[in-house]
Amino acid sequence: MKQKIGFIGMGIMGQPMSRNILKAGYDVMVYNRTVEKTHPLKEAGAAVASTPKEIADWADVMILMLTGPEAIDAVLNGETGVLAGKASGKVLINMSTVSPAYSRAMDRILKAESVVFIDAPVSGSKKPAEEGTLIILASGPEEKVTELEPLLLCMGKKVVYCGEAGKGSAMKMMVNLLLGIMMEGLCEAINFGQKCGLTVDSMLDVILSGPLSCGLYNLKTEMMKQDEFPPQFPLKHMLKDIRFVLQTADENGAATPAGHTIFQLYRQAQGHGLSDMDFAAVKKVLKSMSDEEG
Ligand code: NAP
Repeated sequence: MKQKIGFIGMGIMGQPMSRNILKAGYDVMVYNRTVEKTHPLKEAGAAVASTPKEIADWADVMILMLTGPEAIDAVLNGETGVLAGKASGKVLINMSTVSPAYSRAMDRILKAESVVFIDAPVSGSKKPAEEGTLIILASGPEEKVTELEPLLLCMGKKVVYCGEAGKGSAMKMMVNLLLGIMMEGLCEAINFGQKCGLTVDSMLDVILSGPLSCGLYNLKTEMMKQDEFPPQFPLKHMLKDIRFVLQTADENGAATPAGHTIFQLYRQAQGHGLSDMDFAAVKKVLKSMSDEEG
């Protein structure tokens, strides 16, 4: 019999991920702080819990897809939290992006409660979440990750085993450092070209026709052309993640000069009120810096 899956967090990512689990035939119960966001899953056939505790009481496997540490602490603790329910002996998979240090702390806390913890953030954004083509960066007990692969593969096209709990989050930090730098690079180059009188269409044509073409840049083409940045990966999450990257780099003695630069740029973007836009909106900061200089 398939496990009962409790999914906490119905944001941009959690909604399509839980929908794909439901589509694969699992019994699913969902919880979200803002109850309205559970309605689409309820219509699709999922049960809705009124507290995280109810999820822990009912599910065999719990999945969290939340903003970050503060949200995770909020759903785990307290009278109606996961740990107040029948979580002991069950599995909890955190797929939210957090730092490796936070993941290791979660592992210690959950072990003490006899909960098996899997640290499994994802690479990929809204569209791969909808298509079930995320890359899942799983860490924790290897035999449990292997056992859970059929469930994880409802949400992703590949599971990469990264090692003990914390290593999945370290892999995710590596990915988002590269992602943040690549996006800043594209925006800086396009802004440079615009200042030189080149059109965005012609620059994208050149970039995407040659060796610089990649999935990320293809995904952001329309945003660059329209100069509009509806959120796929909100800028506030990129800023959160680069903060974790810098902390982790410091703890491990890794040099991250470009990481420090992009942190300042994404922080300026937040100051410009761009937090809820896609992280590609960092282009607006480069434009306003150029306008100030010019
Ligand atoms: P999102 O749309 O902002 O959703 C955040 C979720 O966290 C919502 O369900 C929200 O509930 C919940 N939440 C926030 N604070 C809470 C609190 N204090 N107590 C309880 N619940 C709380 O975020 P998302 O884009 O789905 O991202 C989720 C995670 O995946 C993040 O860690 C992000 O970094 C990571 N990620 C995102 C992407 C992407 O492209 N979007 C890609 C890879 C990884 P409410 O609805 O009540 O606010």
